[in-house]
Amino acid sequence: MSEIQERYTAVLQKIARAAEGAGRSPDEITLVAVTKTWPAETIVAAYKAGLRHFGENRAEELAEKRPLVTAQLGSDSGIVWHFIGALQSRKTKLVAEHADVFHALDRLKIANRLAAQRAEYGLAPLPTFIEVNVSGEASKAGFDCTRWEESATQQQKIRTVVQTVCDSPALTLAGLMTMAPWEAPPHEIMTIFQRTRRLAAWLQAEMGRQRPLQLSMGMTDDFELAIAAGATHVRIGRALFGERTAH
Ligand SMILES: *Cc1c(COP(=O)(O)O)cnc(C)c1O
Repeated sequence: MSEIQERYTAVLQKIARAAEGAGRSPDEITLVAVTKTWPAETIVAAYKAGLRHFGENRAEELAEKRPLVTAQLGSDSGIVWHFIGALQSRKTKLVAEHADVFHALDRLKIANRLAAQRAEYGLAPLPTFIEVNVSGEASKAGFDCTRWEESATQQQKIRTVVQTVCDSPALTLAGLMTMAPWEAPPHEIMTIFQRTRRLAAWLQAEMGRQRPLQLSMGMTDDFELAIAAGATHVRIGRALFGERTAH
């Protein structure tokens, strides 16, 4: 087995164990392989090992690598490209053109630009996760939901964001995305993920939606906790590809 195959197998086993421990099916969980900083060849190798979902956090990197990978594997490879990073408004065009799923909507302005550009390109509506900050860590991006359970202001704001995405013909609401604090003990991380899941359930009820919102949460160091708390998408880089040398 290649190294990537070995790592992929180990991650799949951990996902399966975490899901089963929580009484969930591993099929409910999408593994997004985070390939930021790695070259297109790494993505091709991961594809050959069986991975199909890839995540990038820089718009230029996505726009550069997707065509390179498509040139090698064809446009019917079945790859789904996820943009997972903070997006600056002057770079929305790259994401509107090259992403299949967007995980990090953190400002309404970005939603409006993406929607207009997606429509311009004539592409299918972009599934969009709204990034929420429930931990209160200053470094964390996302809409402020640090006190969503008691703050009518925060509830009103996040409802408006959800409504904006739902009302946009060029976006579809995928769910919520969050990041846990970097160095918190497991029980604190678990609480962050659980509060995010409850926020998703609350929003679903508020909006009278049939389908549950999906939850993009969990990275190399905390994906098992995230799965226990209900994650449907885990974004994993280092456990699959090893340590990154750049950003
Ligand atoms: C880099 C990154 C990940 C993956 O992190 P690892 O610790 O390598 O698993 C997940 N989500 C986002 C938003 C990232 O930028």
